[in-house]
Amino acid sequence: MKHVARKRFGQNFLHDKYVLASITEAIAPAPDDTLVEIGPGLGAMTEQLLRTLKMMHVVELDRDLVARLEKTYNPAKLTIHAGDALKFDFGAIPVSAGQKLRIVGNLPYNISSPLLFHLATFAPQVQDQHFMLQKEVVERMVAPPGSKTYGRLSVMLQWRYDMTLLFVVPPEAFDPPPKVESAIVRMIPVAQPLACDGPTLEAVVLKAFSQRRKVIRNCLAGMFTEAQIVAAGIDPTDRPEMVGLAQYVALANLL
Ligand code: SAH
Repeated sequence: MKHVARKRFGQNFLHDKYVLASITEAIAPAPDDTLVEIGPGLGAMTEQLLRTLKMMHVVELDRDLVARLEKTYNPAKLTIHAGDALKFDFGAIPVSAGQKLRIVGNLPYNISSPLLFHLATFAPQVQDQHFMLQKEVVERMVAPPGSKTYGRLSVMLQWRYDMTLLFVVPPEAFDPPPKVESAIVRMIPVAQPLACDGPTLEAVVLKAFSQRRKVIRNCLAGMFTEAQIVAAGIDPTDRPEMVGLAQYVALANLL
């Protein structure tokens, strides 16, 4: 029986063979990699990856899809974790000595930001992440200071990851097609993130970007004095989108 795509689970299934091959090529799996796919759905990506991988893990929320995967795949090749990726403990997946986890997925777009923030807590245990996301979200993730889309997501994720937009995927590659363009992003955890408390950085960045048209001195009024802003290496008359990651970290470290 055909699976009917569920909107509430953000289900858009990839069917374009060329796109599937391009993603697999970008991931470049090796037989012994420890890899987990988030939201395998009907297994379009899973099937491609298992051509090379000896075994892999998937995390899937939809019980019907879990049942389908269980019927289709040999349990020795596919470990299925039925549940919510937002609550999943990625650190619990066993990796051999000297190895790190590889994470991939055509992510459910309705939960992409919270999922990226959840995954960031596992960054030290991760080798790399390859995700399909809304193109607009990927553009915000990779945006440099001074660009229109640079904001909270850029600062928080650039603190933890080196990120590259690899290629754009049109709506027609999916069934049903989403309303927006998608893109593949590669995320590699930075070896030594600038020392900083995550929740504090998050609080500073949230306040800074709450009024992006104002100058940073006014955005951060009540949290930092003008002298502190200058001490962090920031021109207090700059707009928040002109301020780089290192400066936000310097501010957070003053608190
Ligand atoms: N990877 C498949 C399906 C992508 S659609 C493909 O490319 O064709 C997104 C998938 O994520 C669906 O299978 C959906 O059921 C699953 N999903 C949605 N929310 C999830 C969550 N919170 N945790 C894990 N999987 C989820």
